[in-house]
Order: sequence, then structure tokens, then C-alpha cells
Amino acid sequence: MGVTSKRVLVTGGAGFLGSHLCEVLLNKGHDVLCIDNYFTGRRANVAHLLDNPRFEVMRHDVTFPLYVEVDEIYNLACPASPIHYQHDPVQTTKTSVHGAINMLGLAKRLRAKILQASTSEVYGDPSVHPQTEDYWGNVNPIGFRSCYDEGKRCAETLFFDYRRQHDLRIKVARIFNTYGPRMHPQDGRVVSNFIVQALDGEPITIFGKGDQTRSFCFVSDLVDGLVRLMETPDDFTGPVNIGNPVEMTILQLAEKILELTGSKSELVFNPLPHDDPVQRRPDITMARQHLGWEPAVKLDDGLKATVAYFSQLRDEEKSPTTAEKG
Ligand code: NAD
Ligand code: UDP
Repeated sequence: MGVTSKRVLVTGGAGFLGSHLCEVLLNKGHDVLCIDNYFTGRRANVAHLLDNPRFEVMRHDVTFPLYVEVDEIYNLACPASPIHYQHDPVQTTKTSVHGAINMLGLAKRLRAKILQASTSEVYGDPSVHPQTEDYWGNVNPIGFRSCYDEGKRCAETLFFDYRRQHDLRIKVARIFNTYGPRMHPQDGRVVSNFIVQALDGEPITIFGKGDQTRSFCFVSDLVDGLVRLMETPDDFTGPVNIGNPVEMTILQLAEKILELTGSKSELVFNPLPHDDPVQRRPDITMARQHLGWEPAVKLDDGLKATVAYFSQLRDEEKSPTTAEKG
């Protein structure tokens, strides 16, 4: 039978992941309220949804209280790339912590179900590999990444305290590196950086020796995982890892992107940023068991779709008519 329509709030809905999530929720027949302060998100990411009568967008900063009526909340608001979250670190912590308090308060008043977009960064520079959800992490509390890592850790704490103290229905997803169309071309994350550099024939900037590892999940897989998590029985809260367990070095990623773009860009080696984790790979046993989920999109296919997106974006920027629209 058909899905019962719900009123769903997506914070950070004009961002990379949020915009794809809004789209999927609308396709499932839900009413979607997208809120965003456009710090890293763009109206263009959701412009194609505006004609849908079930979709609504509101400019709002989650560090301030919000009064709306919804059944479910996906809390994604927070800059995700190191250059953006380190730009105004105090605001980053406020977004995670005050944002969580405000959205949990809203969920408490409405008795709504609420999902937190947490992160693999809660594991810091992990000494357990691959990372399982019961690992408490190895996080520097006073470094350049701490505003993000500790903000997200505190948000998880708040979620579980609201669960224990107020019996709230919570879900916590620990998202690992995700890539795909609508990543911000200048947000400094490795997949977008390397593709933009390769397409422009600019040097590919490898930080350190490029022997650090990451595991990359395509956006459609990730969003499917979030929606499945929201639909799990109330006694399943997570935290649950959602990511692709195929691990590679950053150097291997660079070589793959050069191959797929046919670019002749040279590789340059720049200093490694502070506290850059050495290795990262999710153990997704829990997601397989509780969500019946695992990634379906292969890296080559996901990268091809992402390259196509950035190529189109470059073409649009070069065209004077679209450039004027901003
Ligand atoms: P993004 O930067 O594209 O999206 C974040 C969105 O939140 C943007 O639209 C931004 O404008 C908005 N935002 C920021 N501060 C806000 C505030 N105070 N009030 C309202 N809106 C605000 O990043 P993304 O990759 O889409 O990440 C979405 C969420 O997923 C984030 O919470 C991030 O921490 C988490 N996450 C993402 C990844 C990844 O690899 N993409 C990995 C781990 C966790
Ligand atoms: N990285 C890189 N060159 C870049 C951007 C990133 O070598 O131009 C490296 C970065 O040092 C890190 C990895 O790629 O080791 C992933 O970086 P990203 O910022 O995408 O995500 P995170 O470090 O948060 O996993």
C-alpha cells in the first residue's frame, strides 16, 4: 500500500546532502519543509523543487528557536568541509550544539521523531580499524577540527540525554565521507577539489604523501541509508555508521580521477592539515542488520556522475546568461 504522507523538516536542506534528501522525501509523497541559513548551501540546489506544492523553503539559522509543526526532523544543518567549518569555529560549535538543543526542543514539544546527521569525525584519528559504533574515538578537544568533531560529539550526547530524560524517538547516523553532484565546487573536500582541479588542468593538491585513507559513499546510497534509519522501529536509535567500506588512499583517488577525466594535471604535494585522520573505514555490520542497507553505487559510476555534474557547472558558469543569474 502507499506510504502515509508526513510533514518532514530538513535542516540544512539547501546543502549537498540535504537537497538530495528533500528530493527523495518529496518523491515518497511527504510534505517537506527545508530550512537553511545558506552558509554553505545554495538556493540553486533546491530551485528545481520549488514548483512542487508539497515543498517549502525557509531562511532560518538553527542556533535560534524554530516554531513549526512537523512529524519528523532530519537535522543536517552544519558546514561539513574543513575550510568552511574552520572559517568561524565558534559558529560551527553553536550550530551543532545550540542547533541540536533547538531541534530537540522542537521534537519534544511535537513528540516528533528526530534524526541527527553525525559524522565519522566523532572517531577522530581512530586507533580501531575499521571503525565500529562501540569505539569511543580518539579526538583532540582543542585542535582546529575540534569545533566540528566535539560539536558533533556533544550533539550526540544531547540526543541520547533527550532520549533518556524525555523518552524522545531519536536516530543517530554517523556519516562517512560522501560525494556526488551538488557538492560545493569550492568547499575544499577532496573529491570536489580533485575533480575541479582535473577539469581545469590545474595541479591536483595532495595533502601529505597521500597515503592517508578514506572510504567514499555516493550520495544516493547515503540518503537511502538515512531514510531507512528514520523508518526503523522506535527502539533502534543507533548510532549507526553509514558509509561505503571500500577504502583507498588519497593518492589512489587522485589517480582514479585523472583516469576518468583524461586530465593531464600534475600531482603536487602540500603540507598535511592539522589532525588529519590517517585512516578511515566504516564497519557497516549494524547498518546491514538493522537497516537492510549497504551501498549499491560503485566508485567509478559515482565519480563519473560527479565529474558530469562539475563539467556542466563549468559550462554554465562560462555562459554569460547563466552567470548573470548567480
Ligand atoms: P553542506 O555544507 O553542503 O550542507 C550543510 C547545510 O547546512 C548548508 O546548506 C548550510 O548552509 C546549512 N547550515 C549551516 N549552518 C547552519 C545554521 N546555523 N542554520 C541553518 N542552516 C545551516 O554539507 P553536507 O555535506 O550536505 O552535510 C550535511 C550534514 O551531514 C552536516 O551536518 C554534516 O556534518 C553531515 N556529514 C556530511 C558528510 C559528508 O561527507 N558530506 C560526512 C559526515 C557528516
Ligand atoms: N585532501 C587532499 N587534497 C585536497 C583536499 C583534501 O589531499 O585538496 C585530503 C585531506 O587531507 C584528507 C582527505 O583528503 O586526508 C579527505 O579530506 P576531506 O576534506 O574531503 O574530508 P575529511 O578529512 O573530513 O575526511
